[in-house]
Amino acid sequence: MLWTNIKVKTKTHLIVPLFISHQGCPYRCAFCNQTDITGAHDKPDEAALDEAMQTYTGSIPVDQLPPHREVAFYGGSFTGLPAERQEHLLSLVQPWLKQGRVNAIRLSTHSLFIDPDRLNLLKKYHVTTIELGIQSTDGQVLELSNRPCAMQVMENAVSLIKQNGFRLGLQLMPGLPGDNDQTFQKSVDDVIRWQPDCVRLYPTLVVRHTKLFQMYREGKFIPWTLERTLGNLATAAQKFTAGKIPIIRMGLHPDPSLRENFVDGPHHPSLRYLVDCRLGREQMENRIAGLNKVPDRIKFRVPKNSLCIYIGPQRENIAILKERFGLKSLTLLPDKDCETLQLVA
Ligand code: SF4
Repeated sequence: MLWTNIKVKTKTHLIVPLFISHQGCPYRCAFCNQTDITGAHDKPDEAALDEAMQTYTGSIPVDQLPPHREVAFYGGSFTGLPAERQEHLLSLVQPWLKQGRVNAIRLSTHSLFIDPDRLNLLKKYHVTTIELGIQSTDGQVLELSNRPCAMQVMENAVSLIKQNGFRLGLQLMPGLPGDNDQTFQKSVDDVIRWQPDCVRLYPTLVVRHTKLFQMYREGKFIPWTLERTLGNLATAAQKFTAGKIPIIRMGLHPDPSLRENFVDGPHHPSLRYLVDCRLGREQMENRIAGLNKVPDRIKFRVPKNSLCIYIGPQRENIAILKERFGLKSLTLLPDKDCETLQLVA
């Protein structure tokens, strides 16, 4: 059985998601209850795919669909499934590929299940992108999260995927049991060293029906605050940007099933926006701190389409900087011709 739920569609990219919750998983990670957080419902494989294709692409002519159209197998560990099951699922997508209704397949899996035979099978069925749930590169964090995996295994998986010409996506989860600012940033540095094509960052949340929820109730796990998470994500985002590695997702989609099962943790529906605001504030802060003498009135010219990230939520950035530097006023001048923050003399 597989499942489908939320729609992910942009002008250039359309994802037809199919969830294989927990299938192929070697163990139950402490934080995971895939079925609950994806809001999945089981259906026969073929019917689920047909329904998803209908939902996401409908009868729109191919030339009017977004240029990148992918079927994505999420949840579970795809390549941990028996080979026959993988072939069955992938073969269902082939007619849609032939018709051009989709032009790529992506899937997520675990580093334990990457080897040349498995990759050959994926190539045969035109899989283009493999996402690995790394979550952390710290051995103790992974142990405590019920997800043991040796660094060597992760490195081998990354190398094999790249050598075989697949696009590589890597996922990290700040704030797992035993994680701290240093271990998370070390994980970010390791991931950058592996040069993936994209990353996703999912701060750890306490969700019902998980081992983490039990640990939380017993006082053995305390989730990171939103503030700590934002600081770490802002640092990570700067590093990924410097490494030219796109972050394609920050935080879980706030769908109804997550809202129903969410217990505690740094969940915010606009996490990316908050991180961008934090970075905007840091830029202004650095510019002001670098002045020989800080005047009591400051003006910045900012790119027009980024004005909101410099202002911050509820004008928070303005208020914080005014207080920090004792400013009488901090004025932001949006300018469509401005590409980066500029201090106005
Ligand atoms: S996080 Fe991934 S590997 Fe771990 S139990 Fe959930 S689906 Fe399986």
